[in-house]
Amino acid sequence: MARLEGKVALITGATGGIGRAAARLFADEGARLTLVDLDETALRETVQSVGEDRASYAVADVTMPDQTQAYVQAAVDRWGGVDVLLANAGIEGSLSPIPDYPLDVFDRVMAVNVRGVWLGIKYVVPVMRERGGGSIVITSSTAGIGAGPDMSAYTTSKHAVIGLMRTAAMEGAPSGIRVNTVNPAPIETRMMRSIEEMRVATMDDAAITVEQTYRATSARIPLGRYGNPEEVAKMMLFLASDDSSFCTGGVYMVDGGRSAGGR
Ligand code: NAD
Repeated sequence: MARLEGKVALITGATGGIGRAAARLFADEGARLTLVDLDETALRETVQSVGEDRASYAVADVTMPDQTQAYVQAAVDRWGGVDVLLANAGIEGSLSPIPDYPLDVFDRVMAVNVRGVWLGIKYVVPVMRERGGGSIVITSSTAGIGAGPDMSAYTTSKHAVIGLMRTAAMEGAPSGIRVNTVNPAPIETRMMRSIEEMRVATMDDAAITVEQTYRATSARIPLGRYGNPEEVAKMMLFLASDDSSFCTGGVYMVDGGRSAGGR
């Protein structure tokens, strides 16, 4: 049987690289989906690629409480409840040491990556309780368990959601609500292209190219490459489905060995 047959999943950041891969895989595994993101055209396109009989969408900024309540309600109205929340929307912010890091960018990264996840949990838990349980999967990062220079807001935010996940897992357990994070290393999406370009722009040596930065980052991963969105989506599927029925409060790396000892 398909692993998400009969389940309803909400996915935020659903038109991005990882969110879209998760939407496709979850739909293939039988889920009904409500996809959430900022841009309606991209959402419509994603719904069409997944299948309109399987997916609906809600335009929402995850930092806004009223819009969060509205996207949870949209899933309830369309599909009758929610079993899975994939809290995946995120932004990278900018690259600079803390003394130079723009305050407004710090605030926005924390708002999207932390407050947005917190709001999603806040409004979805009562709906999951009515259903007798559920699974919340949060996209953290290798930046959630380690750090490099220049990405203070992003690194802080991805650490923060691990604390949030652990609290939500403790609160949710009596109601059968499981909560876990997925922690990818660099993945082939728009976000890494943006980070590579910012990295090159901040370097003193004008001869260093985006391609060289990409190769250097790949070389620091023991498996020698970036991951693909589909490889992350497969871990998300495991955690969303009943295959992970005894898993809650956990940090699940999808990182090519990066956290075990990459340079
Ligand atoms: P992406 O930029 O392709 O997708 C992110 C999506 O989030 C976009 O569609 C964007 O519109 C949406 N989003 C941003 N702000 C939002 C808001 N306020 N409200 C609603 N939606 C919003 O990047 P991605 O790589 O697919 O990232 C998905 C998640 O994976 C993020 O949380 C990211 O931090 C995390 N992650 C990515 C990588 C990587 O290397 N790509 C590694 C580790 C973790």
